[in-house]
Parts: sequence; C-alpha cells; structure tokens
Amino acid sequence: MPYVFDFDHAHRRPPMEMKDLLGGKGANLAEMTSVLRLPVPPGFTISTDACRAYMDQGWPSALGAEVARARRRLEGAMGKVIGDPVDPLLVSVRSGAKFSMPGMMDTVLNLGLNDRSVMGLAAQTNDERFAYDSYRRFVSMYGRIVLDLPGEDFDSLFDEAKEKAGTTSDAQVPTELLITLVDQYKELVERHTGRPFPQEPDDQLRGAIEAVFRSWNGARARAYRDREHIAHDLGTAVNVQAMVFGNRDDRSGTGVGFTRDPATGAKGAYGDFLVNAQGEDVVAGIRNTEPLSALDERFPHVYAELMAIFARLERHYRDMCDTEFTIEQGKLWMLQTRVGKRTGRAALRMAAEMTREREIRLTKAEAVQRITEDHLESVLHPQFAGGGGHAVLTTGLGASPGAAVGRAYFTADDAAAAAARGEAVVLVRSETSPEDVHGMLAAQGILTARGGLVSHAAVVARGWGKPAVVGAEALRLGDRSVSVGDVTVAEGDWLSIDGTQGTVMLGQVPLTAAEPSEEFLTILEWADDIRRSHLKVRANADTGPDAANARRLGAEGIGLCRTEHMFLAEDRLPIVRRMILADTPEDEKAALEELRVAQRADFVEILEAMDGLPVTIRLLDPPLHEFLPSTHELAIKEATVGLDAEERRLYQAARSWQEANPMLGTRGVRLGVIKPGLYGMQVAALMEAATDRVMAGGHPIIEIMIPLTVSGPELELARSWVEEAVAGELDAPDRPNARAVEVSIGTMIETPRAALRAGDLAEFAEFFSFGTNDLTQMTFGFSRDDVEGRMMSAYLEKGLLARNPFEVVDADGVGELVRMGVERGRAVRPDLKIGVCGEHGGDPASIATFYEAGLDYVSCSPFRVPVARLAAAQAVLEGAPVAVRSTAKKAGKRPVAKKAPAKKAPAKKAIKTVKQAVKKTVKKAPARQVPAKKKVPAKKKAAAKKAPAKGVAKTTVKKAARSRAVAKRGRRR
Ligand code: PEP
Ligand code: MG
Repeated sequence: MPYVFDFDHAHRRPPMEMKDLLGGKGANLAEMTSVLRLPVPPGFTISTDACRAYMDQGWPSALGAEVARARRRLEGAMGKVIGDPVDPLLVSVRSGAKFSMPGMMDTVLNLGLNDRSVMGLAAQTNDERFAYDSYRRFVSMYGRIVLDLPGEDFDSLFDEAKEKAGTTSDAQVPTELLITLVDQYKELVERHTGRPFPQEPDDQLRGAIEAVFRSWNGARARAYRDREHIAHDLGTAVNVQAMVFGNRDDRSGTGVGFTRDPATGAKGAYGDFLVNAQGEDVVAGIRNTEPLSALDERFPHVYAELMAIFARLERHYRDMCDTEFTIEQGKLWMLQTRVGKRTGRAALRMAAEMTREREIRLTKAEAVQRITEDHLESVLHPQFAGGGGHAVLTTGLGASPGAAVGRAYFTADDAAAAAARGEAVVLVRSETSPEDVHGMLAAQGILTARGGLVSHAAVVARGWGKPAVVGAEALRLGDRSVSVGDVTVAEGDWLSIDGTQGTVMLGQVPLTAAEPSEEFLTILEWADDIRRSHLKVRANADTGPDAANARRLGAEGIGLCRTEHMFLAEDRLPIVRRMILADTPEDEKAALEELRVAQRADFVEILEAMDGLPVTIRLLDPPLHEFLPSTHELAIKEATVGLDAEERRLYQAARSWQEANPMLGTRGVRLGVIKPGLYGMQVAALMEAATDRVMAGGHPIIEIMIPLTVSGPELELARSWVEEAVAGELDAPDRPNARAVEVSIGTMIETPRAALRAGDLAEFAEFFSFGTNDLTQMTFGFSRDDVEGRMMSAYLEKGLLARNPFEVVDADGVGELVRMGVERGRAVRPDLKIGVCGEHGGDPASIATFYEAGLDYVSCSPFRVPVARLAAAQAVLEGAPVAVRSTAKKAGKRPVAKKAPAKKAPAKKAIKTVKQAVKKTVKKAPARQVPAKKKVPAKKKAAAKKAPAKGVAKTTVKKAARSRAVAKRGRRR
C-alpha cells in the first residue's frame, strides 16, 4: 500500500469515506478534486499509515521516494518547480487527522522559498514586498514549528521593524525592512540551531512533514485527544498543497464560510473574510473580519460562485459544511471543506429541518444519528434569568451559546489553577490560541477582546458547548485586569457572560435551567420511536421532586431509588444511625418505626410522580462509613474539649462497627441479615404508601430490589422477608386496596460472584439490575472512592486503560460479566427483566454495550435521561445483534402500563388488570412456595428446580439465534 496519494488519485471508494487513511482534510480535498471537481489547488496526501510507521520506527524508507515522485507530479500539474529561482512553486504542509482537531497540530506555509526563489517570486508577481513578506512569514513559521524556536523572538523583531517604520499595521512595513527582517530571522535560526536556515526544498519539505508527524504527539494535541476521547495511535495525515495567495493585493482575500449558521442552524451562508490576507489571519482573530455577505459587494462573481459551491457541498454531503477559501486576484480557490462543527441548538435544528428538505432528505434515523451527547448537553445548559437589573458592561459576538458566571482570570494557567481550587472561572484573553486550551477547558466561559465567529476561541468553545463571547473590542487588557472605559475588572472579580447574546455583565447574574427547543423534543421523540421497544430508559431518583423531574425529561420509570439517600439530610441521618447502633431490641424497634414513618411519606411522593410506571425501590444499602459518625473526629473531640454522654455512646458504638473495608463490609443485604426486621419494615412502609396511592386513584407499580446479593440462599432468605411483609399488607383486613398494587421482587448484580451465579439468583428474582459501580469496583479491585483521585490519570496517560472504567463501562471485563449474567439468568428464567442502574446507565458508549448484552432498560440520573434516550436509539441503529433477549417484552407482559396510563384508566378495569398481574407475579415466584423456616438444602433444591429450566434455556437460545439472524439482515450500517 503506498503512503502518498494525489488529490485526484482514483480511489476505489469515495475518498470522503477514507478518513482513516487520508485524514479528514485529505479525504475531503480528494472528494472535492476528484468527485466534485471544484477549484482546488492540486496537491497530495501522505497517509496516516506513514505517520504511524514514523511514530513506530522513524522515517519509513519508502517514503522519501514517494514524496519525491508526488512532488514531481505536482510540479508538472502546476508547470512550476518548488525552489525555482525564476518562477517558484510554493506549497503548504498541513496536518489532517481522521477527526478534526482544530489548531492542535502544525502547519507550514510558503514552503519552497529560499534566498533565490524569493527573487523569482518577486519578479513573477511583480511585487517585491509580497515576496519578502511571504519569505519572512515562512522563516518564522518554519523556525517555530520545525526548528522549535520561541515565537516571541520573531515577534519582537517584527515589532521593532514596525516601530522603526512608525506603524502599527503589518501591511505598512516597507519592503526594505522586510528584507532586513528576513536576514534577522535567518540569523536567529542560525544562532539557535547552529546551522543556516535550510535552503534546499527537499530538506524544507522533509523537515515540515516530520514536524507535522511530531505535532501529533505534542502536548496540545494529546490534551485535546484526551478531552475528546480520540485514540492516540491514529496518527495524522499530511497534506502538501500548491499555495494560492489571498494576500497578493486588494483583489485577493481569504475566508471561512459555513453553508448554514453553525450557531443557530439557520439556513443561509455564514462566515467571515478578510481582504488581502492569508487564512491564518482569519483563524487567529488577529484582524477583525468582514461578514461573508460583504463579499457580495466586493467580489460579486466570486460570491455567486461560492454560493453555488456551498449548495453543491450541502447536497453532496447532505449536511452543513464548513469551508476555507482563498481569492487570488479574483479567482476563487477552495482550500478545505468538512462537515461543520455546530452548537447543540444548531445541530438539532438542522437535523430536524433536513428531514423536510427535498435535496437532502435526511431520514429520521439519520437525524437522530447526527446528534451527539454534547449537543443535547449544550441545550440543557443554563441561561440567565430575565431582568435582574444587571447593566451590560460591553458586548461582543455571541460565539457559543449559554450563560456562564465566574471570576475573571487572564491567563490560561491562572484560570486552570483557580478552577483546580474549586472556583468558577471566566477566562478573559485578548484572543486565544491552542496554548490556552487547558485554561479554556477549566473555565465556565470564555471572553476575548478580538477575533470573529470562526476564530480559535469561538470554534473551540462551540465544539465544547462552552459559553463564549468573542471580539468584545471595548475591552482593554492590562496586567491581571481588564477595563472598559473607566470600569476596571481585577483578577478574581465576578463576571457574567452570555454566549448567545454576546453580552458581558459585572457580578453574578442568576442562572436558570435551559429551555430545550422544539427540535430537541422532536428529535428525542424520534429517538424514542426507534428505541422504545428495544431499550427503555429509566432514572435513578430518590425523592418525589427528582422523580417528577426525571419523568419530565422522559424517564419511563425509576430504575433505582437508593432508600438510604432518603436519610442523608441532617435531620434524618440520626434515625439511620440509631437503627444501626441500637443495642437493645426495644431501641431497634423504635428506630425502625421512625424509619417506617419517614419512608412511607417519601414513597408516596415518588410513586405519585411515577404513577403508572415501574419504580424500583432498593432496600437499604448504607455503606457504614457514610452513615456512622467519624471515629477520627470524635477521638479528637474526646482528646480536646471532651465528649458528652450521647457522644460517648455514639463513639463507642461507631468504634465497634468500624470496618477496614466498608465498601466490602456490612452493606446491602448483609445488613439485612444481621438486622432481620429492617427490610420487612421498609417493605411495609412501601406497601402502605402504594396502597395509599391506590386509594387516591393511582397506579403504583413497584419493584422491590435487594442489593449486593451473592448467592441463591442469601437471596431466597431476603426474598422471604419481603414476601412476608407484602403478604402482611395484602392480608391486612383494613387494606383491601393493597391487592391492586403490582409488585415484583428482584436483585442487584453487583459482584462478580452474582454475575457468575446469576442462574442461582434468577431462581428467586423476577428482575436483575446490574450495579455497575460496585461491579466495576469489585471486578477491577479498584476502590471506587479512591482510585480516580490517586492513580486513574496515570493509568490513562500510560495507556494502561483506554477509558476510566467508572465513566465508560469496561466492555471486555465488566461487560463480559454482564453478558454472562444475562445469559445465565435468562437460561433459568426466560422472562427475567434486566436493567442497569450504575452510573454507566447514562453513558452513550456503555449504553451500546448494555443494549448488545440484551438489557431491557438503562437507568441514569434525571438530567442524563435525554442523553440516554438518544444514545439508546443510536445503539439500536448501530448496534450488533442483541445476545439474549427477555421473552417478557415480546409477550407484552405489562398490559396495563401499555394500554392506559393509570391516571386516565377507568379505575375498576385498571385495578382488575393489576390484580391479575399481581397474581401472576406471586404465582411465578418459586421462593414463595418454600416457607423460610422449612428450608430445603440449597443445592438439592436448586438441582430440582433447574431440571425444567433447561428445556426453557434451549428454546431461548434458539430464539436468540433466530433473532440474531433477523437483526443482522435488518441492520442499517
Ligand atoms: C452500583 O453499585 O452500581 C449501584 C447502583 O449502587 P450504589 O452506587 O448505590 O452502590
Ligand atoms: Mg452498589
């Protein structure tokens, strides 16, 4: 496979699909050249294969000859030779990785100039000033990027020249001074490197190509890839392209254009340009640009041609494109295109509108696939509350929507340090460059005095969904302060910025939650249509208001209510403590009674908010260190001011309960085993609450979940307490409504043993929920409380882990346990309902893993629900066939919820159906038939029960194989 491909190379596939090999820029240059036949300066791409080979073993032996041949072809096409003393060809050397990494890697322009060719360029263009200005730019760029010289050394020489010329404008520096500058720059290079500036084009070219390869591993690029989760081993391609000049004269210019507005999604071209300038001037925001529409007045022909090209690009890519173009003495050249980055608001609007546009005809599935997690998050960002009487200090361009409030810091380092101290930060800069990325990342918002809507600050902030105001020209930056007129903002003062309006306010303007647009709802509805019958989305919510919020955001039930969280409030913590620390049966009973009363009221609220939808209530799982008083603090108090009687009692009890490994200690069902009344009390409270809801006309569907089980007998025992308590309520003569409550009993799978022995657990569970937080902790043996602070970053940096497994589920290890648990559980109980409620339930990559494992639902925090709805649809559209599906959903096991949301259902009918469902549930539960007291030895019983289950397992596997085949056929890759 060759390393070098000309832009017009006849690839077998459309080059735009070959980003792996050609990088994004190279693939699109080839597409524009060979497929669209647009006016693109000729050139060639050195593939990412070459970069990877270079990173492995240095410059590949075949590469030199291939580059030389490609160079000759390029020279042939242009009728000019690089370095020619009479009519030289100049080239640009640019990076271009598979995924766009704006400004993170290096570029060298005007390559091919040397002491002789500069004269040829001057003669050919009849413009000595232009030739020497180009040479000056080349030497400084090459010096900085290829030879690693400090950029400021070049800048200060240039500033001196401007001072000498009595001007502040680059364009006013006279030719003689530019000629002197070139000499000074070359001397600078020689002083630093000990060698003269390279004059041979071959040497220049090789140096530039190697510098671009190296820049793949530069600190900036690595930090960006870490942030964007781009693999470090992809490498970049290098594009060598004939130069065209936007800085030739006033009939020339350069610009950046989008086929639609990337901030709002509105139709119509959008962008900036600069007359008589090179592309870098636009992107760096050094000069303030003119809007694209002004091009129509200055160069109407070029504008018409550009608009026609924009229309073709949109039709061809079926998406909004961004472009870079140059006008050289009236002729338009396209230097780059790609599918453009956009804000979340714009992404949603464009995706929805493009389904209605005849020329694009996006399908709804494609529209759903165009939206990312970040897009949704950004429209969920807070905005400023209206009014508030905060005067606008100044305005700039609203470059990235959303509102941000923070303390002003003026360097990236200071901003990052302040953020690390826990401060909210607004980074204020004259303009930003890739060197500022870490400060931008740490900031809540970004404010610059210069630059346009496609300047570095704007593009980067928009990509991250971070509010930004750019080009606020009234700002005067001083040393650690900024002033507007006579108002000065010092370091650490509060600023509020509105990246939608472009306004800057002093102080802290109150924020409100974001209002998602109409398209947000539309796209999520389409996502729901795609995923609803495959993968449901629930929320983890512990209170009524959280549950209501989750439902508003589209949750289809609660997948985890951590009942211990109901006791984290200051006034409730003592109740749990009293229960844990009680040393007499009376004390324990009294504490349990307190718990019951408190929980009943909470359960009513939650069940009301989720009426008609399943609510998984997890029985208490309090890691003791979170709930007991700190023995350390009490010891200090004892040694200093002393303890009162109650404190002394607490201290003693806490010491006796202290554990070396509380996360592996008396948690979950284990606490239930040593506090036998505990779970029964909780279930009684829950059933009472559910019965109250029935009496109020509600439709409670409850799933009682037992945490941290590891074996069949353990779950069987816990189940017997739950059943007893349920039966107690069902049989209570004063509570006839209790029978209308739909109840099922299940367990969490949080330990490797539980996953391995899922078949045993399925004997006693109607549902499983994978607790991937603990499962990750226990599979890796990584303490979930410590490992991310101590060693995770080292593991990620060294590539020992691809992702933090607490953020993205480890598909190979933990994922394997999930798949095993699903398979083994459903082999015993084919209609086993299975979900996940660890934090991974809201992470898109993990959702794909769970979908493929055959889970019925994911559950995540309320604000992640929209992201999970989208990610679930994308997993369905893109995912591999599902391993083992529950048979329950195909049989339509929840007729009530499906037919009528309970609130509206005629009460009698609903209650009747619910009763049937309860009957079914209770009948199905094998444990109920084995009274806890007369226990059959576990092994014997399991064997007896498993015999019939085997036959079921076989049919399930066959069915799964069939559905895999169907899924394969219907896959939409
Ligand atoms: C889990 O372990 O994944 C889980 C959801 O439980 P918790 O985080 O409460 O331990
Ligand atoms: Mg857990």
